[in-house]
Amino acid sequence: MSEPQKPQKSQKPQKSPKAQKSQEPSIPRYGDASLADLPHSLLASLGVDAPNRLQLAPADRVCLFVVDGLGAELLRAHADRAPFLAAATASTLTAGFPATTVTSLCSLGTGMPPGEHGMLGLMLAVPGAGHLFNCLRWTLPGGAFMDPAEWQPAETVFQRAAAAGIYTAYVAPAEFRGSGLTEAVYRGVSYLAAESVDERVERVRAAMVEPRAHVTVYYGDLDAMGHMTGWGSKEWLDQLEIVDRMAERLAADLPPGSALYVTADHGMVNATERVNAETHPALSQGVAMLGGEARARHVYAEPGAAGQVLDAWRESLGGKAWVVSRQEAIDSGWFGPRVRQEWVERIGDVVAVPHSALAITAPAAHPIEALFTGYHGSMTTAEQHVPLVEVSTR
Ligand SMILES: [Zn+2]
Repeated sequence: MSEPQKPQKSQKPQKSPKAQKSQEPSIPRYGDASLADLPHSLLASLGVDAPNRLQLAPADRVCLFVVDGLGAELLRAHADRAPFLAAATASTLTAGFPATTVTSLCSLGTGMPPGEHGMLGLMLAVPGAGHLFNCLRWTLPGGAFMDPAEWQPAETVFQRAAAAGIYTAYVAPAEFRGSGLTEAVYRGVSYLAAESVDERVERVRAAMVEPRAHVTVYYGDLDAMGHMTGWGSKEWLDQLEIVDRMAERLAADLPPGSALYVTADHGMVNATERVNAETHPALSQGVAMLGGEARARHVYAEPGAAGQVLDAWRESLGGKAWVVSRQEAIDSGWFGPRVRQEWVERIGDVVAVPHSALAITAPAAHPIEALFTGYHGSMTTAEQHVPLVEVSTR
């Protein structure tokens, strides 16, 4: 969710986590062990009639700590800097496609795969409008308004919990209060603004005294640092230690009959290669709009050019990215078992997803993103796999 202001280049980026061994995408395990399966399991553990696919044990109160960018492979590689989280990791979930904050927060907020909730990427075409919508900043060209309930109409788990008499709260920095994204994915929650780690821990502790409570707390600086200096950098490791200490404190504060879960919206890879999709002759021809982000591109073709764009992207990125048509992405289950008809045209005519350490940049439209060290979005295990940490006082 958080985006850094300015990339720094002081630290040497760590090499990307093992390049995907096979050249097969790690398709999210929707309906089995994905982020979209967590919310209903949490509700079930609180006694609500919902599918408990993750088989979470009953509790009176649950706290979900969402650490932006804490991939399971990244945590495993630096377990010495996060001993608490490493020791308490119970299992691994898949983030969902694309492995990006807006998509994953929406899966956590609705309990639906992306194909159902419609938050199918960072920059998406508004069907029929001829322009892109930024789902993170919630901005349209010309400052036009996008109604969060129109873009994401599904009931949230917070609304569902409230209807069952459960207190729900979201602890995060004040800057996100009332944002379009917050309204789309946290509809119905009590927003408790908190800035420092101390404040966040204290807000959670106070909220967890309710007889039945569902409290979510968010931390964004690990991801922001990863984008700037790369995962594994000194600054990133300092952030990892902060996250580990915060989780330990949240666990220590748990009242009896409660559970703490820690997970992430996605992991990360450090890019060692970039291609400029705005100026590359083969990648720009026939392209009307370039959506998505560097590791998960939605490419919207000019009328009649979809086939030609697909061929050109396949040929140009061969061996470095999975490049498929919209229909192939849907049929392969990248967004879930099905994609609602209303959302189909939000998907690019071509979907291009690097599996090497490649970033497909658009420096004119997104100059800061083009200079990142760390990226996420793709279906490598480094980006898809997120930990599920569990601590309980039941
Ligand atoms: Zn990020």
